[in-house]
Amino acid sequence: MTVRDTLLLDQGYQPLRVIPWQRALCMQFTGKVEVVSAHDWKARTVTRDFEVPAVVRLVRSVKVRPMYVRFSRENVYLRDGYRCQYCDGQFRHRDLTLDHVVPRCHGGRTTWKNIVACCVRCNRKKGSLSPEEAGMPLKSKPSRPRWLAPRVFHQGQNTLPAVWRDWLH
Ligand SMILES: [Zn+2]
Repeated sequence: MTVRDTLLLDQGYQPLRVIPWQRALCMQFTGKVEVVSAHDWKARTVTRDFEVPAVVRLVRSVKVRPMYVRFSRENVYLRDGYRCQYCDGQFRHRDLTLDHVVPRCHGGRTTWKNIVACCVRCNRKKGSLSPEEAGMPLKSKPSRPRWLAPRVFHQGQNTLPAVWRDWLH
């Protein structure tokens, strides 16, 4: 599947969000953005072909509210790239669970900072222990994500337009 959207960067080259390429073209024509990279396919009209922006950057420093990422099962999986945060394996949606890093029975809360994606096997193994007690260190420290790409971009890095990768990490 080809990703046909456009990655919008702020003036400081930080990713803001993903927008439809049609909107990116509009912003380009009205001078709001400059094109950083183009897609390797072209849009066609009756009279001509034209380059479609893959990455654009806002030319002015505007106050864009950072995307608010709602706390949900799906968004935790997205943040963690569909990887179990203990064994680092990649799993499908149905083979993942949510794990309380600090177990609920020890006062652990259901928040971005205490919930990670976890495979069924690791979840069973960890039970109601903390990572230290279970001897299962976390692969990364969970936090509220500043930005989430749509689901399609996490089904393997290969689906990401190559020109986006420089800007997403
Ligand atoms: Zn696991």
